Amino acid sequence: MPTENGYLLISLDFELFWGVRDVKTKSVYKENLLNVQKVIPRLLELADKYDVKLSFATIGFLFAKNKAELLSFAPSLKPTYQNTIFNPYSYIESFEEEENFKQYHYAPNLIDLINSNKNHEIATHTFSHFYVNETGQTIEQFESDLLAAIAIAKQKDITFKSIVFPRNQINEDYLSVCFKHGITNYRGTENHWMFDTTDTNRLERPSHKMFRLMDAYFNLSGYNTYPLSSIKYIHGVLNIPSSKFFRPYSKPLKVLEPRRINRVKKGLTYAAKHNEIYHMWWHPHNFGANIEENFNNLEAIFKHFMTLKKDYRFNSLTMSELASIVNTK
Ligand SMILES: [Zn+2]
Repeated sequence: MPTENGYLLISLDFELFWGVRDVKTKSVYKENLLNVQKVIPRLLELADKYDVKLSFATIGFLFAKNKAELLSFAPSLKPTYQNTIFNPYSYIESFEEEENFKQYHYAPNLIDLINSNKNHEIATHTFSHFYVNETGQTIEQFESDLLAAIAIAKQKDITFKSIVFPRNQINEDYLSVCFKHGITNYRGTENHWMFDTTDTNRLERPSHKMFRLMDAYFNLSGYNTYPLSSIKYIHGVLNIPSSKFFRPYSKPLKVLEPRRINRVKKGLTYAAKHNEIYHMWWHPHNFGANIEENFNNLEAIFKHFMTLKKDYRFNSLTMSELASIVNTK
C-alpha cells in the first residue's frame, strides 16, 4: 500500500506527577508540573495555527476532579509490582487532599479544553501509569487498569482508540487485551538497540542514557522514519513506532540546540521526500521550564513542516487517523 505523501505524527504523554512520581519530587519539578496549565493551551494554539494534529495520551487519574473521584474509578485488582515504588495507590492513600497540590494530580479542565477543540485526539496512557514490563504485575491487573481508564473517560464521552504505554514498555501479550477493548493502535519504539524497553535495567544504564542523549544532537540511530507499508499489527493492534523523543531545551547544552532542531528538521525532510512517517513525542511537562525557548523551537519545526506540506504534500495526522488510513488501504 504505497502512499502518495508522508505524515508527521505527534504524541504527547500527558501525565503530570503520575509519570515522574518515582524519579522526581514535587518540589524539584514544581515549575514544570504547574506550568502544564499554560503549556497545553499554547500547544493547541500553535498546532492549530500550523495545521498540525496532536495525540494526547492521557493518564486516567487526570480525568478526576479529586481523590474521592479517582478512588471511585480505581480497579479492585491493583498492580502488585515487586518494586513497590511503582505502585501509585499507596501514595494516593497517603496524601492529604490539599488545594495546593491539585494541579499536580488532576487536569479535567485541560482534558475538556483538548476535547472541545476537536482537531486533536485524546488517547490513553493507562489509568495509573501502568508498567507492563515490571516484575510482579499481571495481565489481569493491566486489563482492570485499562477498563478503569475507559470508564473514567466515558464520563466525558471520550472513547480511546490509541494507547501509549508508560515508559514505552511494550508487552506484546497485553496487546490482545487492548484489542479486546477497542484500541486500534499503539506507539512502538524505534527499531534500534538504544530504545529497546524490554529490559528496563539495561535501558537505565548510564551508557545507554548517554547514547540516547547524544542521539538528540548527532545522527547515531538514523531518522527512524518508515513507510506506511512497513507498519504491522500485533495481536490486532497497529504498531506506530516513534521516530524521536523531542527533548526539552537544555541551558547547559545551549550551543548544541540548533543542531538538535536541525536533526529533527532533517528527519522531517527525509520523511516528506520518501513518503514516510515521522512520529515525534514528548511530555507537556517537558515544556514547563524554559517555555519560550521550547515553543520557539517547536514553532521552527512547524514552519519547516509547512514548507514540506507545500513542496511534498507532507501532512499531519493523529495516531488513530493514521490507523484508519491503514485499514482502508
Ligand atoms: Zn508516562
